[in-house]
Amino acid sequence: MNKRVFIIGAGTAGLILARELSKKGVDVEVFDQKKKPGIPVTASGIISINGLRSIRTNYEESVTNVLYGAMLHAGKSVMQIKAKKPIAYVVNREKFNEVLLKEAKEAGAKISLGKRILEDEIQRLSEQGILVGADGAISTVAKHFKMGKVESYVLTYKAEYETTLEDTKSVDLFFDKNISAGLFGWLCPNSERILEVGIGINPGRYNSKAAFEKFILRENIENKLKNATLLSEHASIIPMKLRKKIVDEKNNVILVGDSAGQVKPSTGGGIVFGGNAAIIASEIIYKHFNKGTSLNEYEKLYKKKFVFDTRVHKLLNNFYSNASEKSLSLTMRILNNIGMSSFLSEYGDMDSPKAILKNAILRKRL
Ligand SMILES: Cc1cc2nc3c(=O)[nH]c(=O)nc-3n(C[C@H](O)[C@H](O)[C@H](O)COP(=O)(O)OP(=O)(O)OC[C@H]3O[C@@H](n4cnc5c(N)ncnc54)[C@H](O)[C@@H]3O)c2cc1C
Repeated sequence: MNKRVFIIGAGTAGLILARELSKKGVDVEVFDQKKKPGIPVTASGIISINGLRSIRTNYEESVTNVLYGAMLHAGKSVMQIKAKKPIAYVVNREKFNEVLLKEAKEAGAKISLGKRILEDEIQRLSEQGILVGADGAISTVAKHFKMGKVESYVLTYKAEYETTLEDTKSVDLFFDKNISAGLFGWLCPNSERILEVGIGINPGRYNSKAAFEKFILRENIENKLKNATLLSEHASIIPMKLRKKIVDEKNNVILVGDSAGQVKPSTGGGIVFGGNAAIIASEIIYKHFNKGTSLNEYEKLYKKKFVFDTRVHKLLNNFYSNASEKSLSLTMRILNNIGMSSFLSEYGDMDSPKAILKNAILRKRL
């Protein structure tokens, strides 16, 4: 077999994988149908600081804001989580993608932009090396190799406004199963003067734009947008569950990122999970070429690292997606009373409940 890797998709996951493999001396070619991958920007860029560090990218120049906490809203109840240290950065996704592209190129990956790979070519590429589907939620690679459907996803709609912001250090999340069952609505200060407003919903009852329009009529949001100027708006999709199959060993195919459903189900964030999956995939592909390691090891290692956290995030999502406003408000009041907001401020890790537990236990022992 040729020791070559073909990656379809120059998004976060595809580019991290290309960079890591190229650094190991593997011959890599990345294809993207877009001349400028990642444009238009349909996603947000809130990423935990630990998570950003874990994907080994020089993200600094893309950071547009630093977040210290969140305000969680359910009905009339509000829970504030405010940490002493920064917990997440907001990155400019266009800039972030440019950095990833540069890093992959500098490491030696060949990048072919403006080239859509069709199904007959997918088959041909998989016969010439390892083929990676990093081609997003609606993956043609997964479809071609019958790797199962995305069993759960949310539809999103988000807009950016220029306005004067009072608080730029905290993100607001609104839980309301009548408007945003499946995820939540959010307000995020992307920078000093840019406010992002978005919503994620289960497919079915409304389209995401209709839900968004309902969401921004909430009193506390309508007021904030009164003198704001709309800059952009986009609809998109987030896969919320790991695809049934992410490796097809027989055909030399693997999936990474959104195509694999490597997303945190409590928030829809996919950069940390997909980026780490790409790093794991690079190690296994390298070992596959040099020691004959099975590609299935990639799926095993990914699950070992993320299954516990994914389950906890899914439980959270199930809870806030299905609970009534009354039970959400009550839960928040109870959590506030038992000091949960200060606990989360102290030990919170946006990505990893496992890390929260570990931090809390370690701290108690000291
Ligand atoms: C509204 C919204 C908000 C989000 N907010 C956050 C957040 O705050 N933090 C976070 O971590 N994550 C967030 N996410 C999720 C995150 O954006 C995704 O998980 C991540 O971008 C997925 O990267 P990817 O590389 O797997 O796929 P993508 O970024 O979708 O890239 C796939 C690429 O494949 C290309 N492609 C597809 N088919 C072909 C083909 N046949 N031939 C050639 N090229 C092809 C596409 O052009 C595309 O460039 C959000 C998503 C949405 C929709």
